[in-house]
Amino acid sequence: VAYSACPPDSQELGRSTWTFLHTMAAYYPATPTEIEKDNMRTFINSFKWVYPCGPCASHLRKEIRRDPPKVDSNLDLSLWFCYTHNKVNKILGKPEFDCSRVLERWRDGPSDGRCDWGMPEE
Ligand code: FAD
Repeated sequence: VAYSACPPDSQELGRSTWTFLHTMAAYYPATPTEIEKDNMRTFINSFKWVYPCGPCASHLRKEIRRDPPKVDSNLDLSLWFCYTHNKVNKILGKPEFDCSRVLERWRDGPSDGRCDWGMPEE
């Protein structure tokens, strides 16, 4: 893989970060323990302060105040990130993503198997 020698701009950072956040949500447990739920809330509540794009983080904090993270299952969390991402898409004039396909996009891949590589085992 060829990596650029340049630091990421907000677009590249955003793309990479959404990849991480949606993938994290897709692989979160379907029935998390109370500790797992606490860990996820703690992560998001730290992330919203440390994300290295000031206006993006500030906007995210406002969204979280309006609509706190849903951490009861991988589907709830994936949908919450999907809605949150769609709010950013709307502001930026990007197309709305169909959230009914969020697990297909970030975990399962299309049913024709063309992305059939999965995640490495622990
Ligand atoms: P991205 O929006 O980065 O999306 C990457 C891929 O995710 C897409 O190709 C698509 O397959 C998939 N996708 C798209 N929408 C969804 C969805 N709703 N749910 C699931 N998957 C989806 N930029 C700003 O200019 N201002 C901001 O305030 C701002 N806030 C941000 C807040 C956060 C928390 C993050 C992570 C990023 C933010 N960004 C912001 C960056 C912005 O969202 C984009 O990442 C950037 O503009 C690059 O866009 P892109 O077109 O490459 O696709």
